[in-house]
Amino acid sequence: MLKDSDLGFLNSRVSALLENHVRNLQGGIVPVDLEKVALAAGVSRIDRVMMIPEGALVHGESGFVVYLQANFQHSPGAHLKQRFVLAHEICHALLYERIDANKIRRRRMGEAERESLCNRGAGWLVLPEFVVDWFVQRNGRIRTTEQILALATDAQVSLETVIRRLHENPSKWLEVDHGFVLAQAHAEVPTIRAVAYGPWMWGKIPVPQLYQAEKDWISKLRFDHDLVEGSETTIHLNPGILRLEKAHPRSSSYVYKIRHEAG
Ligand SMILES: [Zn+2]
Repeated sequence: MLKDSDLGFLNSRVSALLENHVRNLQGGIVPVDLEKVALAAGVSRIDRVMMIPEGALVHGESGFVVYLQANFQHSPGAHLKQRFVLAHEICHALLYERIDANKIRRRRMGEAERESLCNRGAGWLVLPEFVVDWFVQRNGRIRTTEQILALATDAQVSLETVIRRLHENPSKWLEVDHGFVLAQAHAEVPTIRAVAYGPWMWGKIPVPQLYQAEKDWISKLRFDHDLVEGSETTIHLNPGILRLEKAHPRSSSYVYKIRHEAG
């Protein structure tokens, strides 16, 4: 569990960094120029190298150096992955606190918490609130899988990042009574990787859980045959109707769109 104080600390540092970024924006709103953001966060160099970890942050004499794994640079999705890892490493840099003119110290917290906090912060950086707001202003609140794909393409982030991010503010960004579930298709046991829905879902249907097997969730909806891609399936609740639509926007994943209609 992440502490509110740690979340608040990183959130205010990310916000300050992004405010400054927006003030000095020269190009378009999307995608966020992470190399520029990194520079403003005190990263003096970004090196792409062959290594086992996906990313690393080192504090050198003239600031931070970020190392990004270059091993799979040309594989599909590598570009998006690398952007997310860079954002994650920027968050590590933001978790240093200045003690005096020439001394900095890493904020104290558990290692697992630090990693999960930096993943959360990476989502804020690659897909900032102002980017989602901008998208929603142009396209309306998100109600289709196509919109999710368009936002992911515009912002150069994965579907996972988009859907996780939408879940942070569903009442602002999602159409009322709509929800989305991302499942990884090529995993041995396809699992749920991201969910986004408003409070309407609680108590109406079994809530999809992160890392739950996709099949377990589907079967809990009392729905026992495979959903045909693109077709809409109706599940009668008591009261109300649930419309479930499965799409396959990228080779590695399925997106379920859920729409609840009051009965
Ligand atoms: Zn990390």
